Amino acid sequence: MGVSKTIWTNPTEFLRVNRPENPVLFFSPSALQATARRFIDGFPGMVTYAVKSNPEEVVIENLLAAGLRGFDVASPFEMRLIRRLAPDAAMHYNNPVRSRAEIAVAVEMGIKSYSVDSASELAKLIELVPAAETEITVRFKLPVGGAAYNFGAKFGATADLATELLREVAQAGFIPSLTFHPGTQCTEPTTWEAYIRTAAQIADDAGVAIARLNVGGGYPSHRLKDAPPDLEAIFAMIDTVATEVFGDNHPILICEPGRGLCGDAFSVATRVKAVRDEAHVFLNDGVYGSLFELPMIGVIDRTEVLASDGKRRSGEDLPRIVFGPTCDSVDRLPGELLLPGDIEEGDFLIFHGMGAYSTVTNTRFNGFGELGLATVLSLRL
Ligand SMILES: *Cc1c(COP(=O)(O)O)cnc(C)c1O
Repeated sequence: MGVSKTIWTNPTEFLRVNRPENPVLFFSPSALQATARRFIDGFPGMVTYAVKSNPEEVVIENLLAAGLRGFDVASPFEMRLIRRLAPDAAMHYNNPVRSRAEIAVAVEMGIKSYSVDSASELAKLIELVPAAETEITVRFKLPVGGAAYNFGAKFGATADLATELLREVAQAGFIPSLTFHPGTQCTEPTTWEAYIRTAAQIADDAGVAIARLNVGGGYPSHRLKDAPPDLEAIFAMIDTVATEVFGDNHPILICEPGRGLCGDAFSVATRVKAVRDEAHVFLNDGVYGSLFELPMIGVIDRTEVLASDGKRRSGEDLPRIVFGPTCDSVDRLPGELLLPGDIEEGDFLIFHGMGAYSTVTNTRFNGFGELGLATVLSLRL
């Protein structure tokens, strides 16, 4: 990505001056640091960051500046990135399936926390990771809703299997802990409640006192105008239920948000390539680019349209089908977007809340995907 050195007042100023042909992501360090502080001040435990959601170095650096000291890493690449930028930070290796070569890298790097959701992967860890002062966190799943899509389809042991695994972790001399991921963009505090109650049951059935309970990522970012995320309601629920089921000496709580931390620190400005026969809007960015996630978790309605001179379009909203730039017919945003009726070729369509799973999943398919990055004081247009 082309990183511009200048700090712009807001996206409008940048767009008016540069009229970029390629999509541009706008990053607000102050928005990121404010969200990081909201987590650090509000969450009743340790806050870590799921690096996969946005591994841009400016993101990691600003999270460190805000006081964050722990990272959920899933690959040797992410481990090396964090070691280089934050040599003293804690790394939790919470990808429950790993090759032997990947485990060797983690051991070499001194990683002291691993998650697991199967007997075969636990056997690998017991064989390859020295137990001293090392935590193995058993990941379990529940058939509960509340999230934009279900993470339990790939990872997580049933409660019964988790009980057995937890016992085995303790017997092998590792520090026993539990974890879950409620599913991404989870807006329902009661989803965490159900998981925390089950965690207590698993620990009780296993006869194991867990050292830590990692309550996952899944925290929502602001995707719909009328639904700003209520992080504090989720934090309060976690605190109340953990204290109720584990007592005052409850295990240390950890959270590992990705989207909830970085999502609202970025907006993307796409450009209208064509309004085809007054009906279809074609953008220079789409589902092979920074809008990759939209077909999976639904469209973002926090959009604004600027004419190429920076003036806001304010025509009456009309439903439009919106396509990305590639020649693939799946390159289409889900449903229809309500866009100002006076939108024209050359206009900028800005999507807010675009920090997570955007820069990192952008592809070069069909020769598109050249994404600019600009720093702004504020994301307000
Ligand atoms: C992806 C992931 C996260 C972050 O999920 P968000 O929904 O972005 O908060 C946290 N923990 C684990 C283990 C993950 O795989």
